[in-house]
Amino acid sequence: LVVLGIESSCDDTAAAVVASDGRVLGEAIAGQAAIHAAFGGVHPSAAAAAHAAAIESVVAEALARAGAAAGDLSAVAVTVGPGLSLCLDVGVRKARALSREAGLPLVAVHHMEAHALVARLAAAAAAADAAGGGGAGAAGAAAPGGVAFPFLCLLVSGGHNLLVLARGVGDYLQLGSTLDDALGEAYDKVARMLGLKLEPHGGAVLEALARGGDPGRYALPVPMQRHPNCDFSFAGLKTGVRLCIERELPPEGHPDREQIAADIAASFQSVAVTHLCQRVRRGIGWARDALAAQDSAGSDSSSSGGGSDAGGSSSGNSSNSSNSSSSSNGRGGDCSGSGRDGSGALRQLVVAGGVASNAVVRQRLGELAAEAGLELVVPPPRWCTDNGVMVAWAGIERMRLGLFEPALPPLQLEPGQEQEWIDLRPRWPLTTEKAAGSTPRV
Ligand code: ATP
Ligand code: FE
Repeated sequence: LVVLGIESSCDDTAAAVVASDGRVLGEAIAGQAAIHAAFGGVHPSAAAAAHAAAIESVVAEALARAGAAAGDLSAVAVTVGPGLSLCLDVGVRKARALSREAGLPLVAVHHMEAHALVARLAAAAAAADAAGGGGAGAAGAAAPGGVAFPFLCLLVSGGHNLLVLARGVGDYLQLGSTLDDALGEAYDKVARMLGLKLEPHGGAVLEALARGGDPGRYALPVPMQRHPNCDFSFAGLKTGVRLCIERELPPEGHPDREQIAADIAASFQSVAVTHLCQRVRRGIGWARDALAAQDSAGSDSSSSGGGSDAGGSSSGNSSNSSNSSSSSNGRGGDCSGSGRDGSGALRQLVVAGGVASNAVVRQRLGELAAEAGLELVVPPPRWCTDNGVMVAWAGIERMRLGLFEPALPPLQLEPGQEQEWIDLRPRWPLTTEKAAGSTPRV
């Protein structure tokens, strides 16, 4: 399989061509940070206009780098949600047009699932490199050195802060979610409060500033100490930082300003990462309990108890929000969460999403994973923030399970009328089930 992935859910227009053996054949991206800096956040109609201006050239560039024409592809994968509808629409229209023109199947991709699954591509590619191989080999399977289901996954990005047990493609048990902001959003807001430049990302600029700072200088409150669950909250910490800035940060031109800003940034980052670590430590226990309960339920019934039990194994997948149900009329359209390829034991912690490109996040979660006997897997930084590779790869994972739409027929509609073969899903929950104790929000 060779799949083109298209991403336009927020402020990056991205495309990539990826082969099912894990080779990334071509990538292209157009960011919009400079456009949104003036608004203090992503401005939906400005973002949609920028996507519309960039989409043709980004897709053409990814194809050109891959040395491929649309007709050489096996399918087009596109992010259909969650995200800004005006923005998603640009990518989905382009994917529909390619599907029609070249007779390609379409794969509807969940943006957060793409963030999570690209770790499977990255880990297998790294293992193949270490072995001196070319591509990622059996990247989607339980390859040695790859990432196999089930795994614990912390998704930390601009719009999401989720801790999930990934049991299979389209099959995620929610352990924790944020009650307010996501950590990426908190990084962006603190960067703005400190008057930093927000390009390419506020979070990356804040991390760079924090490198020269003392993380112990300002005592900020670690969130949610009285909530013994796996949920997150960053609003209180953000307020703490604001008050600290008002109290401590001298005006522009003051000789100590830079150092104090760095100390505030480092103190914020340290407490935020402590919060992540505390929740993940508890989540490891919850995930192990959930797997043990699943195993004992499996051994009570006629289930095979692990192994490759795709499709029919999703008994726990009772929610009506199963993200696999998007494939309404494709082959396997009624196949709910599947692709489980691991037995019960938890072996890996995956951290993904834009904030996972942060070195302090990687280091401290790596230490925690090692203590708990887990391997930490984090995609390379360019695949942590939004990119086309993750969408193409998620497309490949879904194609393998039959979760795609057939090629669109030539258009036979009235002018101005458009058939919605793939619906946009701006609010699409990732999780199919929630652990007891997790809040209802996703
Ligand atoms: P979502 O994936 O939830 O829809 P998004 O797509 O906007 O949101 P991503 O592109 O995954 O988010 O990640 C961008 C976020 O990651 C931004 O909030 C950015 O500040 C943050 N980020 C990027 N690099 C770093 C870094 N080095 N340290 C901390 N945060 C970072
Ligand atoms: Fe994202």
